[in-house]
Amino acid sequence: MFCEGQTLKQINGGNRMSIRDILKQRSEARDKAASGESEFPEGVTRYVKLGRHGEINKDGRTLVLLGSPDDWFIYFVHEDKTYNGRGYDHNFRKHTCSHSPKGVVQASELANYLRAGKDECLSCKAGAKRKMFFMIPVYDPQYKTYRVIDIAEFHADSLIADYDKIEKTMQKATKNPEYSIVGEAAFFKQVDKTYSLESGDVEDDVVEAAKAFIGADFGFEELANFREKDDIVTLLSEAVGGIDKSVLPNQTPADDELPAEEKFEF
Ligand SMILES: [Zn+2]
Repeated sequence: MFCEGQTLKQINGGNRMSIRDILKQRSEARDKAASGESEFPEGVTRYVKLGRHGEINKDGRTLVLLGSPDDWFIYFVHEDKTYNGRGYDHNFRKHTCSHSPKGVVQASELANYLRAGKDECLSCKAGAKRKMFFMIPVYDPQYKTYRVIDIAEFHADSLIADYDKIEKTMQKATKNPEYSIVGEAAFFKQVDKTYSLESGDVEDDVVEAAKAFIGADFGFEELANFREKDDIVTLLSEAVGGIDKSVLPNQTPADDELPAEEKFEF
């Protein structure tokens, strides 16, 4: 009941946000972003860590799926590594192929990216090994926000096979051919040399919270870390193998290209 002389602030128990509070919060969020801080605690990022020492390991982790495989972001990565018995030797630093979709595209459009893009990407032109990668949007009940599982084609293949199996079983069980496991808990686990997906279990309020993220803009382009051309030139020139360096532009000008005053004669 609003009584005369009572301010809105008192009614809301002093929790009313002023425009100054909002501006302050926004500025703090910007500072955090600029300093690399995030809404995650230290050591945790938007990318769910995979593998033996990761967050999805043999013990598994329950997350909520925020999209079907058709909504997963597919892009390409240049990576050339060999297992040396203990870890991997890389011919060059792993990086995103410039000839990749910048967001989720239809299969027909994706077909345009399946082959290396010599005109669009210097790494492709240099013949660098190229692999298909997937970003799977999920809701993480532990951090109460969306995250992505960034995974190579081989593993995505395993997950999609499991996804289809669960969905088919559920469609049969519910007699609903439209049944989808998007928005439902999924238990991701490391098995053998890949990952598996089983149906998981979370409280109703988690499912509710996750729903708010379905169909959201996950900023896949930014998450894929596309690099500037200069950056790629540097990275490729540092390669120890696996590429044809003759396609790289000359980075350091030859002696006779330098302005006269920069020529030092001894
Ligand atoms: Zn490329």
